[in-house]
Amino acid sequence: MVNVKTSSGSDALTDTKEISKDKPLLEIRGVSKKFGDFTAVNNVDLDIYQGELFCLLGGSGCGKTTLLRMLAGFEKPSSGQILIDGQDMSEVPPYKRPTNMMFQNYALFPHMTVEKNIAFGLEQDGLAKTEILDKVDSILKLVELQEYKKRRPQQLSGGQRQRVALARALVKEPKLLLLDEPLAALDKKLREQTQFELMNIQEKVGVTFVVVTHDQEEAMTLSTRIAVMDKGRFIQTGTPTEIYEYPNDRFVADFIGSANILDGKVVSNIDGMVEVSTYLGKFSLTSNSNISKGSNLYVGLRPEKISISRTSSKSTNITGYIDDIGYFGNTSRYKVRLDNDQIIDVTAQNQKRPKDEKDRLTYEDKVQLSWDNSSAMLLLK
Ligand code: ATP
Repeated sequence: MVNVKTSSGSDALTDTKEISKDKPLLEIRGVSKKFGDFTAVNNVDLDIYQGELFCLLGGSGCGKTTLLRMLAGFEKPSSGQILIDGQDMSEVPPYKRPTNMMFQNYALFPHMTVEKNIAFGLEQDGLAKTEILDKVDSILKLVELQEYKKRRPQQLSGGQRQRVALARALVKEPKLLLLDEPLAALDKKLREQTQFELMNIQEKVGVTFVVVTHDQEEAMTLSTRIAVMDKGRFIQTGTPTEIYEYPNDRFVADFIGSANILDGKVVSNIDGMVEVSTYLGKFSLTSNSNISKGSNLYVGLRPEKISISRTSSKSTNITGYIDDIGYFGNTSRYKVRLDNDQIIDVTAQNQKRPKDEKDRLTYEDKVQLSWDNSSAMLLLK
C-alpha cells in the first residue's frame, strides 16, 4: 500500500490516506467529447484507484460534468476509452455499469418516504423483500437517518435530503459513485459540516467516489486527489497539497487559493537549481524541468507565506506601505505598495486581539515584508 502521488510532487507530501496503486479501478484513456464543432472534453487520461475520493475541479463550462456523464454512460465519448475494473465500457449502458450517480438536485421521489426512496432501486433489481429491508436498514444507520425513514423528502432539511440521496446511491453497492456537485444545494456552514460527513461515510463504505465541484475549498477538503480542469483539459492532477504548494502554472496557482505572480528571468540552472531574477529580488528554486538560461517564466508567492511587520529585521526582504486592508476577523489581507508602485498581497493571521489602535497595522503604515525563499513557486507558464 502506498500513497497516491503524481510525478509532479514530492514524496514527503502525505495528505492522502493509504490507497493501493496496484491496479486502477477506473482508466480514462484519451477521452474526448465533441458537441458539433465544440470540444467539451479534450483528450484526457486518468487512472483512479479503489478507495479514492477524487475531485474533478474547474470553473463553469470546463467540461467536468460532461466527463462525469461519460463515466456514468449518459454520454458517449467521441474518441478514447473508459475502463472500469479492467472492463471496456464502450458498449455497456448506464444501468449495467458498476456505477451510480448522485445528482446535484438529488432527484428524490417526492411522494415516497425516505425508506421507499432508498429501496426503489433495489426493488427494480428484483431483490427479495427481506434483503431489501436489511440493506435499507443498514444504510439508514450509516447515514444516521433511522428516525426519519417514514418522512417524505419535503419534511426533511437540506442536509437530511442530501444524506437520503447519498444512501439511495450507495445502497446499490456501486464500485464507483459519481457525485455531481453533491453539496451545492446546502448553505455554507452546512456544506462545511457535510464535507466531513461525506468523507467519513466514504471511508466507512470504501466505495470509490468521483466528485464534480467548482468549489476549490471543497475539493481541497474532500479529496485524495484533484484534477484541475480548464477548457476540457486536465491542467494538473495531484493531491491537495501538491496542487496548492506546487502548482505547475499561473492558472492553477491562481485558481486554487491566490498568489502574487512575478515575472521572472532565468539567470542560471545548475543541476536543477534554478536562479530566477524578479522585481522582488532573486529566487533559487528547484525544478526537474528542462529550463534554459535566459528564459522567461514566473514566480508565485502566496499571500500567507509573506510576513508583515512594522519593525525591520535581518529577514526583511523588502519595505512597502499599506495601501488597502481587508479585515476578515481571523485574518487580514493587506495590499502593500512597493517603491516601484507594484502591489503585493499579504495575508496575516490575527493571532492576538489588538489592545488599542496603535497595535493594529493601518493605512499608509511603513511595513517590512519577509518570506522564506523555499516557499516561492516556480510557474512555467
Ligand atoms: P458547470 O459547472 O457550469 O456545470 P461544467 O464544467 O460541468 O460546468 P459541462 O456541463 O461539462 O461543464 O459543459 C462543458 C461545455 O460543453 C459547456 O460549454 C457546455 O455548454 C457544453 N455542452 C454540454 N453539454 C452539451 C450538449 N448536450 N450539447 C452542446 N454543448 C454541450
